[in-house]
Amino acid sequence: MENKLKLVVVGAGFGGMSIISSINQWAIRENLEITLVEPDEWHHYRNCWIKNSILEPGKISKSIHIADLIPSDSVNWLNEPAAQFHPEQSYLLTINGTRVNYDILVIATGLKPKWKLIDGIHGKLGRNFITTAFNFSSLDWNRKFFNEIEKGKVLFTISGGGSNGTIPSKEIVLLANDLFKQKNIRDNLRISYYDGNQSMFPNTKISESLSSIFNAEQIEQRVSTTLLKVFPKSKEAVFYDAFQDKEYSENYDLLHIVPKMSPPKAIIESQLSDKNGFLAVDKTTLKHKNFDNIFGIGDITNIPCVKNLSAIRAQLPTILGNIGALITGLGDFKEFNGEHSFSLHSAPLRRSNYRLKFLELSESKVWPSITTNTILGYIIAEKTNIKNYRSSFVKSKANKLEPSKIK
Ligand SMILES: Cc1cc2nc3c(=O)[nH]c(=O)nc-3n(C[C@H](O)[C@H](O)[C@H](O)COP(=O)(O)OP(=O)(O)OC[C@H]3O[C@@H](n4cnc5c(N)ncnc54)[C@H](O)[C@@H]3O)c2cc1C
Repeated sequence: MENKLKLVVVGAGFGGMSIISSINQWAIRENLEITLVEPDEWHHYRNCWIKNSILEPGKISKSIHIADLIPSDSVNWLNEPAAQFHPEQSYLLTINGTRVNYDILVIATGLKPKWKLIDGIHGKLGRNFITTAFNFSSLDWNRKFFNEIEKGKVLFTISGGGSNGTIPSKEIVLLANDLFKQKNIRDNLRISYYDGNQSMFPNTKISESLSSIFNAEQIEQRVSTTLLKVFPKSKEAVFYDAFQDKEYSENYDLLHIVPKMSPPKAIIESQLSDKNGFLAVDKTTLKHKNFDNIFGIGDITNIPCVKNLSAIRAQLPTILGNIGALITGLGDFKEFNGEHSFSLHSAPLRRSNYRLKFLELSESKVWPSITTNTILGYIIAEKTNIKNYRSSFVKSKANKLEPSKIK
């Protein structure tokens, strides 16, 4: 192990696991010592959370044990969070003070929900018709409430800022709307969607498209409106309206909350973050702005992309190519052109597909849905679930491009 190059990956979400899984296929793999730093024992497949929290639970496993995803004989797994980064000396410290030296570091910590920013909901999620699909343990309660409500006001909220909930927060509104229509109770319900951001989406064209989908379904929308406080007993929610610079309260019968998402403290407090706390990487090379041996992928980066799996898949060839170039000294650094996409499912058999180049250029289409799980080109079947999921990291088109060229 002594002379091997040390590659450390922080975070075992889709970003971190895709990196490990791809590099495990490289011809130069045997020259590398790979360490994963991940505090959770479970890798969460969140893509099915929204659908499963409204409709019957599907056959897709929502979480897979990390040990089932990484080969224990070749990847070290430190089951603790990274707590401090020392990029000038190329090491990090875990929360227990374990020092992890690296030659190359990949940061893929994702974002964390900040429930504490909303007063009054501690211990209340899953009670008094306050719910979320953004919390693993709330999924069954969520489904219960959406299937129990028959009349009144359903209020959906999302707090502002960089979030992986930008699209799922809208998808759940449309799925609930479909459910109410199927149950013939839609006319008894008023549905509202309050967004803490200045618009439904950072790109104007897409924002207008999303807004028109909501208008067609008679879903009221407000922007720059942030949930501050909840009074569960009186079913009252207090919002801050940034346009009018004032607080106001509103009653609800069912409240669905998407909280603010934030980078982990260890990143915010490090020299690696930008002014908003996100990992400061070059948007074309995915290399850290100041440290040549640090890369970032996924939600934690400050790249102007939607925070979703498509963006991660699109970023993979670049980051892998650039790690390969750094290790071998061969080849030029690759550039990410920002192309990625997202899908939004509305009525049962339709979905809107949006393509973006960073958050700037866009085109959108509405195609008939094939199945939800083909979105990123991998299908997860019940029986071969884990095996297929593990190889999905490797099979994604992106991975074919770079590693095989690096000998
Ligand atoms: C409810 C919900 C539904 C979604 N639905 C979809 C969808 O349908 N389609 C889609 O494309 N995207 C969807 N997304 C977004 C998608 O899940 C994310 O974009 C994706 O998971 C991001 O992957 P990541 O690897 O960057 O981060 P994550 O998946 O969040 O993984 C980060 C990992 O880092 C670990 N970590 C955190 N802090 C530390 C630390 N200090 N040290 C070490 N490790 C740490 C975490 O434990 C975690 O395992 C959804 C998100 C949510 C919340």
